[in-house]
Amino acid sequence: MLTVEEAAHRVAATAQPLAPEPVSLNEAAGRTLHETLRADRPFPPFNRVTMDGIALAFAALAAGQTTFVIERTQLAGQPPQPLRSPSTAAVEIMTGAALPPGADTVVRYEDLHISPGPDGQRHATVLVPPPAAGHNVHPVGSDCAVGTPLLLPGTCLGAPEMAVVATVGAHTVQVTRRARVAVVSTGDELVPVENTPLPHQIRRSNALMLAVAVRATGAAVSTFHFPDDPAALRIGLPALLTDYDLLLLSGGVSKGKADFLPTALREAGAEEIFHEVSQRPGKPLWFGRKPGGAVVFGLPGNPVSTFLTYHRYAAPWLRTVQAPLAVTPPPPTFAALAEDVRFKPALTYFLLVRLESGETDGILRAHPVFPNSSGDMTSLLPAHGFMELPLERDFFREGEVWKVWRF
Ligand code: AMP
Ligand code: MG
Repeated sequence: MLTVEEAAHRVAATAQPLAPEPVSLNEAAGRTLHETLRADRPFPPFNRVTMDGIALAFAALAAGQTTFVIERTQLAGQPPQPLRSPSTAAVEIMTGAALPPGADTVVRYEDLHISPGPDGQRHATVLVPPPAAGHNVHPVGSDCAVGTPLLLPGTCLGAPEMAVVATVGAHTVQVTRRARVAVVSTGDELVPVENTPLPHQIRRSNALMLAVAVRATGAAVSTFHFPDDPAALRIGLPALLTDYDLLLLSGGVSKGKADFLPTALREAGAEEIFHEVSQRPGKPLWFGRKPGGAVVFGLPGNPVSTFLTYHRYAAPWLRTVQAPLAVTPPPPTFAALAEDVRFKPALTYFLLVRLESGETDGILRAHPVFPNSSGDMTSLLPAHGFMELPLERDFFREGEVWKVWRF
């Protein structure tokens, strides 16, 4: 039987980066940038005032002038007019305004006293002189020059990146296309969530669980359900195999009398790449692809198996195809086992764990979460991920460090 490493390797070999597409700013968040975005102006684009107060010429202060006539007031967004009498006057000015030509320094209100003068005009007396010319001014181009590359291909467009996209006026950007994913549950025992199940039935929960996880990667998801019926699969599968980049099926891949998927997939033109991996849970995992069409994961139906095999194999596939230029792949997490664990079968053990970092030593510890069975989906609730324990060993000691796949 295939090892986990070999299976993951065969999955990775099918992960072809998706082509980029131009999208509007509102569609770009969370996607991977495919172009270089440069500063379209110097930043800041003008001498930007950073405090509310008065703008004056530092030379006047240096020459002994301490009281200035306020010529006028200038707000952010108003075009700057020159300071007419730099040796005796100042402009009252607000944060975000462009510094008036002739002024080079801003004294904030807190360091001033403003009162009406004998001439009827307002006069500002500087109580705390600024240390140097340029005080409280963010000089034009001091953050970056025109043409500076600000975002490189491979950048994931999160919130601060989107602020940069907006600032340089990139209202259309080249980003990786979203993967089109069909999530397909199978099984005659499964009824729609809004139905009241008969005693021998259960509600369909895997499709929603997978759809939520897949959507979080940025992919576009549609969900489907098939009964355990070869005829229904024969009719439904071919279109899915041509219309989607990825099919995530759950259930129907084991050795049961109603596990029709491996045969139905083959008949629909999907080639098997592997079936069964030496792992627990999730041994019946099926993987294949339709040439020129979708890549297919037949995930085992037990919810814990479904979720763990999704995270071990399908989530990395989605990351590779949707973020092909990502500068750094997400770092693997390594954690120390918080207690001894014994696991006899010659299978890689996916051990559900809750992660906690030590308050005094900073060590990340993995506390095992033991499900009643791989059908026990509530055991996923306290878990942060699973630790991958190699098949060559059957005893793992507290303190040993192993890789953790986080949910
Ligand atoms: P299977 O892999 O089809 O043999 O299913 C294994 C177990 O997982 C069975 O007990 C199924 O009822 C359960 N199961 C399969 N698909 C789902 C689903 N979509 N939601 C919840 N449980 C499921
Ligand atoms: Mg089934």
